[in-house]
Amino acid sequence: MYENYKKARNTSWDVLLNCGISKLPISLGVIADLYDIKVIAYSDTNITQVLKNEVVEGDGFIAYSGGKKEIYINDKINSRNRRRFTLAHELGHGVLNHDIGTVHYRNSEIDNQTDMQEFEANVFARNVLMPATVLSALDIHTTEEIMKICEVSRKSAEIRAARMELLYKRNMFNSHPLERKVREQFNQFIKTYKKQT
Ligand SMILES: [Zn+2]
Repeated sequence: MYENYKKARNTSWDVLLNCGISKLPISLGVIADLYDIKVIAYSDTNITQVLKNEVVEGDGFIAYSGGKKEIYINDKINSRNRRRFTLAHELGHGVLNHDIGTVHYRNSEIDNQTDMQEFEANVFARNVLMPATVLSALDIHTTEEIMKICEVSRKSAEIRAARMELLYKRNMFNSHPLERKVREQFNQFIKTYKKQT
């Protein structure tokens, strides 16, 4: 399981670096574009008529269409920040080359302990949306601060804030070369943000 965690976390750093993303909130559209994954809102399709009820009630999913990966996001779910987590999670399935032949509709933010693809997608989503190295450079601790700067839901921010406290205690930042590169890529953003506060 730690291997799954590491793989998803390292991939999140790779993706931030490859996409040249250098500021918060993370632009997920940039990631989708670079990895050639189309993002479609339910309301722009007739998907809810064609597919089963669980689709309509779920947050979204990723599937192949004509050999390409497409992400469908349930835009009837009102919280924009929750939809951002769903999109990051589905991007995780796409970028991590998960088996998306079978569609999964449900995206719980609570980690799945048995389905490793779901677990990896959540780890990826969290690390992309809320990179620990950047939060630590800004000395960010609370759920509210994380919600605001990362544009994530309260649930996501709570999980991240708890994780950050552990990392702060152990001072576990920037020990991996990829994480150090991410930190450098955000240098300008970190400087500007500090000046404002
Ligand atoms: Zn999933």
